[in-house]
Amino acid sequence: MRFDIMTLFPALVETVLSESIIGRAQKNGILQVHAHNIRDYSENKHRRVDDTPYGGGRGMLMAAPPVWNCWQAVLADVKEGERVHTICLSPRGKTYTQADAARLCRYDRLILLCGHYEGIDQRAVDAVADEEISIGDYVLTGGELPACILVDSVGRLIDGVLPEAECHEKESFESGLLEYPQYTRPETFRGERVPQVLLSGHHENIDKWRLAQAEEVTRQRRPDLYELYLKKYK
Ligand code: SAM
Repeated sequence: MRFDIMTLFPALVETVLSESIIGRAQKNGILQVHAHNIRDYSENKHRRVDDTPYGGGRGMLMAAPPVWNCWQAVLADVKEGERVHTICLSPRGKTYTQADAARLCRYDRLILLCGHYEGIDQRAVDAVADEEISIGDYVLTGGELPACILVDSVGRLIDGVLPEAECHEKESFESGLLEYPQYTRPETFRGERVPQVLLSGHHENIDKWRLAQAEEVTRQRRPDLYELYLKKYK
């Protein structure tokens, strides 16, 4: 799978995504991440990419032409038959969930558009984006960290990215529940012992205990998810 990130700060996303599991997946050729500097596509002789908003108001907006030109250049590299989807990272978008990550990992190519300053001329967003995604109800300075979150969460669902031991099937959200608490050595830490059932070697009891814990933690912390889980499974 290939991600193309359109941004004014390519080094920001390259730095984050070159480390750890996503970095290793790139080195192994399972994932490809390409950052494109929108500034390289400015038609302005000073390489300017922003301007003041029509109608007044504070701050600067990213202008439409460099975004459009950058997107055209990325598309020029798409091979026949590849499933391509363009996403604009925006606080105005649909709130991102694990279900979106599962949906998006079916594409061959995801093109991610990162805004900066006060955002992007709406005509550019409408012209290039299939959808707008928000990573939560708060405002960041740019779309680069949201883009990294999207690459990380989609990328880890691609076969071969996670080592088998870190398989995601039983993780928070996959079953509609938050994850049960986990423990590793030492058996006693500051007087707190690991729950006895986990030391018993009785796999059926361990599974029952984990499910009960996952249900309880979800009921307490995320009643909204718990309600959906009850409707679906009980
Ligand atoms: N003026 C915009 C507003 O009020 O909706 C905020 C612009 S924000 C300072 C600059 C850029 O950061 C946005 O264009 C977007 O790409 C990114 N961004 C900020 N918060 C985000 C969020 N919660 N989810 C996704 N992208 C976000």
